[in-house]
Amino acid sequence: MRILIPGGAGFIGSCYVRALLSGGYAGYEDVQVTVLDKLTYAGNPANLDPVARHPRYAFVHGDITDGELLADVVPGHDVIVNFAAETHVDRSITGPGDFVLTNVYGTQRLLQAALEAEVPTVVQVSTDEVYGSIDAGSWTETEPLLPNSPYSAAKAGSDLLCRAYHQTYGLDVRVTRCTNNYGPYQYPEKVIPLFITNLIDGLPVPLYGDGGNVREWLHVEDHCRGVQLVLDKGSAGEVYNIGGGLDLTNRELTQALLDALGVGWEMVVQVEDRLGHDRRYSVDSGKIQALGYEPRIGFDEGLAQVVRWYQENQSWWRPLKGTIPTN
Ligand code: NAD
Repeated sequence: MRILIPGGAGFIGSCYVRALLSGGYAGYEDVQVTVLDKLTYAGNPANLDPVARHPRYAFVHGDITDGELLADVVPGHDVIVNFAAETHVDRSITGPGDFVLTNVYGTQRLLQAALEAEVPTVVQVSTDEVYGSIDAGSWTETEPLLPNSPYSAAKAGSDLLCRAYHQTYGLDVRVTRCTNNYGPYQYPEKVIPLFITNLIDGLPVPLYGDGGNVREWLHVEDHCRGVQLVLDKGSAGEVYNIGGGLDLTNRELTQALLDALGVGWEMVVQVEDRLGHDRRYSVDSGKIQALGYEPRIGFDEGLAQVVRWYQENQSWWRPLKGTIPTN
């Protein structure tokens, strides 16, 4: 089996690639992996160092908006698992154009290439943010999409194109919508690695608004296991929420990180809230649980592991810290 993984040099995609090539998914031990990645600021070849010399691994440097390149690369693959996207909400607020280009147009180019090359199955990795904010309760997959940031709107656009390619052309495309991820190799502009790396350096951490926004935190390896389960046991044209992590306000998350690094609230600076900041996300994971999904990594254990990883892998993140824009 040959699997094409656009965005495989990013945080989550690289976790999936490392798991696939280390025999982490039963039945896929012989899989051939092609990573296709534009290597934006968020794509990092170092994320794939552990598999760089693997005999069943190939890397193509390229853009999913490039139809000619896709016509070359996509044929011969049995599966596409698409992680390629612009992903940082703050960047989508200051510059939405790239988000529409990659997340909407790029996904459409990829679906078209899959259709033309008769790729049997596509998995599109999406996000719970497409549903918008929910004050109480949890979203099921049939809820309407009410995205509030340019990032989530562009992701919703890609989800709807997946639906259209299934309904119109019969393409077997499945969509996953996961909650917030944390783990090793996450670019240090995102809140957990930003806070950990600042605190390692004795720098303050910025907390948005009143810190009351609620997110559900899932370890990246559990997310990738969910994606793999949807590939294995999911159905064409279906959407699957992936959650089951821990709900925390940003204040609670900050407290956990301060505790892990052994410092107090004097390290926290409250900053003006993000524009259009969604208050709370929460997904109902019943549908994927029915396929056998269950997260394996508890938050306390996972967070301790991740803090240790950033402490021990400073050569990975130090060169990236200087590239984070300050708004
Ligand atoms: P990331 O920003 O770390 O990685 C994105 C990758 O896509 C990078 O390697 C980048 O170089 C590549 N890329 C961007 N534009 C491209 C293009 N035009 N062509 C080819 N490659 C391109 O993102 P991530 O956190 O790993 O997220 C991966 C996917 O998971 C995204 O679709 C995101 O929406 C989704 N998701 C993320 C989270 C999270 O908490 N990080 C949660 C749920 C869903």
